[in-house]
Amino acid sequence: MTIQVCGHSNPDTDSVASALAFAALSNAMGNDAVAVMQTTLDKLNPESTVVLEKFGFTAPAELTDAAGKEIALVDHSDVAQGPVNINDANVVAIVDHHKLGDITTNEPILINCQPVGCTCTVLNEMFKLNDVTVPKDIAGVMLSAILSDTVNFKSPTCTDKDKAAVADLKVVAGVDDTDALFMDMLKAKSAVAGVPAQDLLFRDYKDFDMNGKKVGVGQLELATLDQVADIRDALLKAMQDTKADGRHTVLLMLTDVVKEGTDLMVVSDAPAEIEAAFGGKIDGVSFWIDGMMSRKKQTVPNLQKQFGC
Ligand code: MG
Ligand code: MG
Ligand code: MG
Repeated sequence: MTIQVCGHSNPDTDSVASALAFAALSNAMGNDAVAVMQTTLDKLNPESTVVLEKFGFTAPAELTDAAGKEIALVDHSDVAQGPVNINDANVVAIVDHHKLGDITTNEPILINCQPVGCTCTVLNEMFKLNDVTVPKDIAGVMLSAILSDTVNFKSPTCTDKDKAAVADLKVVAGVDDTDALFMDMLKAKSAVAGVPAQDLLFRDYKDFDMNGKKVGVGQLELATLDQVADIRDALLKAMQDTKADGRHTVLLMLTDVVKEGTDLMVVSDAPAEIEAAFGGKIDGVSFWIDGMMSRKKQTVPNLQKQFGC
């Protein structure tokens, strides 16, 4: 059976790139595998669209139902972020860089999860360990994913391994200027003109179960907060609508990647808890948190501590 390699719901560039990379590695090693994703091409985020186009890929096919299939998970290991009916699938591998999730299996499987900035960094190492050369086009998308996940090395999630992987992959991909590649991606991902607020909220969004409370956290990475000055009311409305759909809290991280901090928009049943989690004071509907870049390493752990997870 062909192994379907799938990233998390609402895929980001790492989820698509690591699916392509793991499928390529598997195929090179004689295992039949194909990259898939939990969305359609027209819903793929603008950054990933630019990256796939730049390196000559068409988007992987959509996986609508995992039941009965052999699945390799990349960039996540949570049921909530997995494909539909993942509990009825045969999960054969997990490659990730997040906290371990709640996927379970009946048999031993390949797992390679590392505390690095990007799944593609783990995969770069797997190519080396298995003595497989990374194909040029795959190197391009892997390189892009690492720059994206580490916010061009500025995120606290970035490790020396990520930097070393970029140094490897840029040579293979034939990319001289990785800063220019990052700026091209940032331009695509931070473009807000004409995009409905709901789509912006969900562009990079994850739901978490925090001690029985459903907490959603979206993130928009921006070159400057001015980019969203005119649409804050619309974003707030989208957050309120999303919260009304059974959530305790909806947060939107407006991350200024140049100033290296986040203006955190808050819609919550318990705003004081959110203030306590980050040691700040809400001014209107948001507050600035200096140095906050990473949902995974900064926002979520602080919330989990506050919610007693
Ligand atoms: Mg991801
Ligand atoms: Mg990732
Ligand atoms: Mg990300």
